[in-house]
Amino acid sequence: MASTKLQLITERLPLLKKLLSPCRLCPRECGVDRLHGEQGFCRVGSQIKVASWAQHRGEEPPISGTNGSGTIFASGCTLGCFFCQNFPFSQLGNGQLMSAEELATVYNRLARAGVHNINFVTPTHVVPMLLEAWLCSDERARSLPLVYNCSGYESAEVVDLLDGIIDIWLPDIKYAQNSVADELSKAADYVEINRRTLVQMWKQSGALHIDAESGLATHGLIVRHLVLPGSLAGSAESLRWLRQEIGADVQLSVMCQYFPAYKAFEHQVMRNPSEIDDYLVVLDLIEELGFNNVWAQDPTERGGA
Ligand code: SF4
Repeated sequence: MASTKLQLITERLPLLKKLLSPCRLCPRECGVDRLHGEQGFCRVGSQIKVASWAQHRGEEPPISGTNGSGTIFASGCTLGCFFCQNFPFSQLGNGQLMSAEELATVYNRLARAGVHNINFVTPTHVVPMLLEAWLCSDERARSLPLVYNCSGYESAEVVDLLDGIIDIWLPDIKYAQNSVADELSKAADYVEINRRTLVQMWKQSGALHIDAESGLATHGLIVRHLVLPGSLAGSAESLRWLRQEIGADVQLSVMCQYFPAYKAFEHQVMRNPSEIDDYLVVLDLIEELGFNNVWAQDPTERGGA
């Protein structure tokens, strides 16, 4: 498996790098020359900036397992969510510039610590850099499943190029209305791009597969949805779409952990935490729609994580 991945990454990395100049690595297609340091909407040039990495135990159970997921948080983002809980690095650019070799040592350290996967968090704008580092990492790190933990606002060409490379797709379905996506995340075409992305990932990898012995996810799709205050996430509409277009077997992860951060306090609705009752209504609808695979959070244990 790792040797096939090695071959695929070696073959496709040049194609992915080509998408950096002019940049069309994400649907914004800013067209800037990132290979020569220019920056577009995501505010990242030719080098990846890494905000943090961790042996993270707070992901979904088959991703975190017992030893944690090896999360790599990239700085910068292709969305502009004014309520982002990770705003110091997604919106303000905090982080450490790293060469491929330096990042590879992070993968190697996480693998030696026993993580169950390498989990690229907010990877969309830095895919070539993440994979270049993977090529420099050692065999142990390269044997781990790769998780692509993203906003679901992806380029179809990039998702195609990642076929056979990414093991576990972990996209969001954030909104059901473009007007809301534009207001909250500066992405006026989020809905159609997100839906196209989810269908593409589903066709590519199918239902989530969990190894019966280890309880760990090996490959497939997990769709995350965060319930927002005032029904701004369009939960009901998105869930109906998912049920109709992807089906009852998709693995859902439905979250109620929204709390106001960054500039959310300036917004009449988003300055409030999400309501437990709204979350319970969403869970009822999930049951009514007959989804077979759902992870839900305990709303009484909401925190600021
Ligand atoms: S990855 Fe960044 S620079 Fe490239 S198109 Fe997307 S937002 Fe623009």
